[in-house]
Amino acid sequence: MTQILSETYLDYSDILIRPKMGINLNSRKDVNLQRVFKFKHGQTRTGLGVFNANMATVGNFVIAKKLLARGMFATIHKHYSVTEIGDFFESCRQQNVPIDNLFITIGLKNADAEIQKLKELESKYKWSTTRNICIDAPNFYIQKALDVLSRVRHEFPDSVIMAGNIASGDICLKLLDYADIIKCGIGSGSACLTRRQTGCGTPMVSLVLECADIAHSVNGHICADGGIVDVGDICKALCLNSDFVMAGGMFAGTDEAEGDIIEKQFETNEIVNGQRVIQTKYFKSYYGMSSEYANNKFAGGMSDYKTSEGRELLIPYTGSLDKILQDITGGIASCCTYIGATSVKHLSKCATIIQVHNQLNKVFEKYTV
Ligand code: 5GP
Repeated sequence: MTQILSETYLDYSDILIRPKMGINLNSRKDVNLQRVFKFKHGQTRTGLGVFNANMATVGNFVIAKKLLARGMFATIHKHYSVTEIGDFFESCRQQNVPIDNLFITIGLKNADAEIQKLKELESKYKWSTTRNICIDAPNFYIQKALDVLSRVRHEFPDSVIMAGNIASGDICLKLLDYADIIKCGIGSGSACLTRRQTGCGTPMVSLVLECADIAHSVNGHICADGGIVDVGDICKALCLNSDFVMAGGMFAGTDEAEGDIIEKQFETNEIVNGQRVIQTKYFKSYYGMSSEYANNKFAGGMSDYKTSEGRELLIPYTGSLDKILQDITGGIASCCTYIGATSVKHLSKCATIIQVHNQLNKVFEKYTV
């Protein structure tokens, strides 16, 4: 019989972190944003657990380099060639940008070729000093995903492997036999249509709590992927015990994201000298990796058995990525001071989460300049 779980599953907009008296932190400058991650399969990395999504639009070299330079983690999308990645390693070396926290994405489709690509990176570019792999599949519940994951672990026993996406706790232990980090989140992404097209998905807050609990019981880690609207949502995910957070849309309107700035004119209601005032607004294109656009661009079109589970959007242009990265580090440090956490590692220990009906005051939002 079909079961209905009647417990309410919560999303980021359903909760807030309640400020409280704790250890007296005088300034957000005193907060330690770096954390040492000791991974299940033996490796250690240090950084602030924030990733850019491994999507074509935001998983590019420019964005990755900026996150790495700020002590964060980064992915690059799966469509780069070995030579392009090799050149990127070299440019990071020349600019003293550490690549220890860089994850190379591979897909499931051509596993042999993908593994070959990783091996070439190793032999040609001494990639073994970093060697972090992100195995990306929109749906990690299929047997093929598990097969590729176990094979990649076998081929690269010393790598840090992040695998996903999943949206329930039951699969975590199985994946952690081979993976170090499980990427959690199905249907939450801002360019995603999975919930509309399939009805499947799990709200992020409940998902993160469930998966973190299971993964941490065997020294695994998780990454909350998708649905980050504001920096506050990154703080919430970290407070809920997610080790890493991945965001796409948050970075997609920046200069550094793929594509040109698109200018559009809009008529306003204002009339000056008998003429309607025209307002100019700027946008950037952002598309899901399962969108028709991405399928046309990278896979020669949509297969006839598939439906598009991603969309193509024009989102507001937001300027330089540096400002957003500054907001992220500033927001997390400030969150720590509100709840008395001296380091990002302690956020989950110090956090009290409250369920709310109304999260934000939006009364003047449309007047923002
Ligand atoms: P965002 O930060 O924009 O809310 O979400 C980014 C995440 O959305 C990605 O890391 C990935 O997990 C997911 N995603 C990217 N493209 C697609 C797509 O075409 N369909 C679906 N269902 N999810 C996508």
